[in-house]
Amino acid sequence: MRYLLTQALIIKKHPSSENDWYLTLFSPELGKIGALSRSSRKILSRKGNHLDPLNLCTFQLYKKNDRYWITDCKTENPFLEIKNDLERSLLAFTILELLQRTIQEGEENERLFTLTIHTLKQLCSANNELFLEEFKIKLLKAAGSWPDLTLCSACQRRLQPTDTILSDHDGRLYCAICQQLHPSATHEINFQTIRLANYLSLEKEIPPRLKLDRENLFHLKKLTAVFLGQYLHQELLSEKILYMR
Ligand SMILES: [Zn+2]
Repeated sequence: MRYLLTQALIIKKHPSSENDWYLTLFSPELGKIGALSRSSRKILSRKGNHLDPLNLCTFQLYKKNDRYWITDCKTENPFLEIKNDLERSLLAFTILELLQRTIQEGEENERLFTLTIHTLKQLCSANNELFLEEFKIKLLKAAGSWPDLTLCSACQRRLQPTDTILSDHDGRLYCAICQQLHPSATHEINFQTIRLANYLSLEKEIPPRLKLDRENLFHLKKLTAVFLGQYLHQELLSEKILYMR
């Protein structure tokens, strides 16, 4: 048995018994872990006030037999600008769902943790759906599930700004000539959108003040949704809610 101190983002929280909460945490050193908080559901519990999803906290944990107990918790950043805004909350909860489904239990993941906190801070500063798309692209890139989108999938020719580019359901892109041999490529996609996606996959950030128009944002979301679907083997639940709006 031992005590440890770690920073972690609260991904999920659910009642465990009359007085306890069971939390899913994302810690840079420990990856995804489950931890029990005893007696934190009692009214006026000092600990209980800190235990909301999306809070970045410093936790003191007690580990015994591969199980964690929360002995102390201090909120570092509650990301209030997100929680006080419905649209930003929906974007942030998609991030939490993605983390829930992609991080491995007990596996160090400093890089993804840094990306997550960075994206949440971006969302605090502005309500921009592009931040979520940037997060998805960088997550997929780090997982090796983001393809090279600069070339035609068939002839390997570099796609040009003047090309009419079509994509198929698997996200493969085709130049004007190869489209004729690939009838499954039916979805037209703008070169600028592909260029932005490639740019974001290269550890670069969304240029300040860039706002895609609805149509190009839709194309970008569709593109990331295809590769995310392939990576996760199914759609994101919170994204369905987003698309319903
Ligand atoms: Zn081609």
